[in-house]
Amino acid sequence: MRTYELFAAALVCAAATGCSGAKKPAPAPRVEAPAPGPTLTVAPQAPSGAGAIDWSVFDSVSLRNPNDESLRGGVPLPLTAPGLRFNPARNPSTRYGTIEMVRGLVDAGGRVEKELGGIPATINDLSYEEGGPIPHHRSHQSGRDVDVLFYQLGPDGNPIESVGAFFDPSGAGVDFRDLADPSDDVALQLDVPRTWLFLQALIEDEEAQLQHIFVAEHLRTLLLDYARGHNVLASTLARFAEMSCQPSYPHDDHFHFRFFCAPDDIPKGCRDSPPMYPWQRRKLKTAGLRPLPLAPKREQAKAKVVTHEEAREAAGPMDAKVERWLERRKQWIDRPHPGRTYCP
Ligand SMILES: [Zn+2]
Repeated sequence: MRTYELFAAALVCAAATGCSGAKKPAPAPRVEAPAPGPTLTVAPQAPSGAGAIDWSVFDSVSLRNPNDESLRGGVPLPLTAPGLRFNPARNPSTRYGTIEMVRGLVDAGGRVEKELGGIPATINDLSYEEGGPIPHHRSHQSGRDVDVLFYQLGPDGNPIESVGAFFDPSGAGVDFRDLADPSDDVALQLDVPRTWLFLQALIEDEEAQLQHIFVAEHLRTLLLDYARGHNVLASTLARFAEMSCQPSYPHDDHFHFRFFCAPDDIPKGCRDSPPMYPWQRRKLKTAGLRPLPLAPKREQAKAKVVTHEEAREAAGPMDAKVERWLERRKQWIDRPHPGRTYCP
């Protein structure tokens, strides 16, 4: 087993976000179907991912709850676009979302590349093309949830492709590669400037309508401290502080982002999970809309989720350094560092 399998696939996310990292047994696999209608192709030399795509050909509708229901007209995230890639280790049939979310991700990756250069953002699962239960996640069912790996720096301080490593309170991590081989480890550092800029782009994108950022408290603190020292709009900082928190699975290896229902999806039955922020209520009120409450979750919406212990057992042999890392990690799994509460 290698780092990305353990870190991006084999450990569990918690009920609040509904990610899970089950290694076994997966719910019934779905056969990947080709995307109907237009697909996204982006010229590698295009200056901005979002600017290179004709988004007008898409019309998505997210239905019901993030953790129960479906997606109509799901938009496929490009496998590659300027500043962004869908993780080649993931199943490409899980790269569908609402037009607002996919466009927001492409735009954010494009902005980071344009302003800071470096390595494309690595995007993990979104939803199936038609939504519904998805292996390893409780949510991700209606095209408004996505997992994104943090930007990272290699031992020489230069950007390298993200592997989904855990990062500690100092922003240090390790790509253990073969988990049973202590001689091949690569020291990593969280790439705070690029990771922050990606967040900033999503938060400031009024059409994408980011709702929630699930991330470990110690990484939230690093990002917040960086942003405070870098001339970021006060409204952006305030929104980040309010919309980010650590769920019971710590999210020290990736972000889970959730997006609000697009205004035109609400009359069709799209339902937001809490929280509903004052700025979002104002926006909906101006549009003559009121958010719908979550619908009772139906039995068929449940996906298999495994425990930390089951995932750890499934990960197989590990050398002592990996074991020590996992032991140290319990500090911020058991109690969010530096001491805020878990996500409500
Ligand atoms: Zn997730």
